[in-house]
Amino acid sequence: MIAHVSKWVLPVEQPPIRDGAVVVKGDRIMAVGPAAEILRGFRGLVCEHGAGAIMPGVVNCHVHLEFSALAGRVIPQARWEDWLTETLAAYGGLSPVEVEAGVGRALDTLWQSGTALVGEVTNTGASWPILENSPLSYHLFYECLGFNLVADFDLPEAFPFFKQPEVESAGFLSAAAHAPYSVSPALFKAVTQWNAARLAPQMVHLAESRAELDFLTGGNGFFENLLKCRGRWVPDFQPPKMSPSAYLHDLEFLGPQTLAVHGAWLSAADCELLAATGTWLVLCPRANRYTGAGTPPVPDLLEAGVNLALGTDSLAGNWDLNLFGEMLWLQQNFPAYPGGMWLRLGTLGGARALGRDRDFGSLAAGKKAVLGFIPLEGDSDFWGELFAAGAAGKWRWLG
Ligand SMILES: [Zn+2]
Repeated sequence: MIAHVSKWVLPVEQPPIRDGAVVVKGDRIMAVGPAAEILRGFRGLVCEHGAGAIMPGVVNCHVHLEFSALAGRVIPQARWEDWLTETLAAYGGLSPVEVEAGVGRALDTLWQSGTALVGEVTNTGASWPILENSPLSYHLFYECLGFNLVADFDLPEAFPFFKQPEVESAGFLSAAAHAPYSVSPALFKAVTQWNAARLAPQMVHLAESRAELDFLTGGNGFFENLLKCRGRWVPDFQPPKMSPSAYLHDLEFLGPQTLAVHGAWLSAADCELLAATGTWLVLCPRANRYTGAGTPPVPDLLEAGVNLALGTDSLAGNWDLNLFGEMLWLQQNFPAYPGGMWLRLGTLGGARALGRDRDFGSLAAGKKAVLGFIPLEGDSDFWGELFAAGAAGKWRWLG
């Protein structure tokens, strides 16, 4: 047994503990509390880490590791449509070897920055074996696109990935629907059925851009042209004349099993709908800045009581995959809210969204011992210093 002791312990489900300790045995946490209590009669090894905070590994609910080789190749854009066009063109120029090397590098940096659990969106399956061989825990979402798949069908008929025997036996694998502008109602239904039969969470990009909102409420040229270029356009398509959230609710896609990602263009009514259905919203606010998408309506989301988690999206659309950057951005841009709330979103929120809070997301007896230490110097602006130090790569795993 090892007791890790430091000036601060951040259990997440309880307030920060000053002069705290976490006792670990094997791969499990045995006890968390004030060091004076925990160490009374303790006979194991005591590791004193000093000024700083012990906390659980973070949960990044939304990445696309297969875009990692595009790091630095797609610069930040003022218009989201330009970002998407650039990214699709650049991704098409990558070789499978470049894609795989990018996945490996990105996983290394995710691990080094304190990521315990990641929600990975794959388009090819290429990232799966690399994730299997990494120290990170993961949930794999196989992303389905098909605006023109208008007749009802079973998912493996259209996506042979799901016919592989290893898919059926995989523990943490789901089907994902890419977005309301790229997925037909029949495909949303097939994805829902596949996931529901396995009690698996599902994912969709939701209300990411103004263009998406315009497309669903009145149709617009950008997505029509894009779908035509990709051979996916449906000539008799009629816009549903609803917000993206209302449209997905109409298709029975929302609910506590669904992780909707981005939400930069949610109205207050949309936020209430997400809250009422228990849908998770995964905020990726720095990615939204990078891609020119906008800024999610954080006060409306909090007011409505939407279940929130955090992600970074991809290295084609963010500066890095360090989730502390997302927490720091939220703390700096919404200083009226308590800083500990952003830590909760980046840990326990994500673990709950992915259905893995039995093991991840907080420091509590019985959970997996995936914890680390961040050195801190000052006492003022505790959360700002914590997030900045994490964003600067000062994380150290405690084994
Ligand atoms: Zn994404």
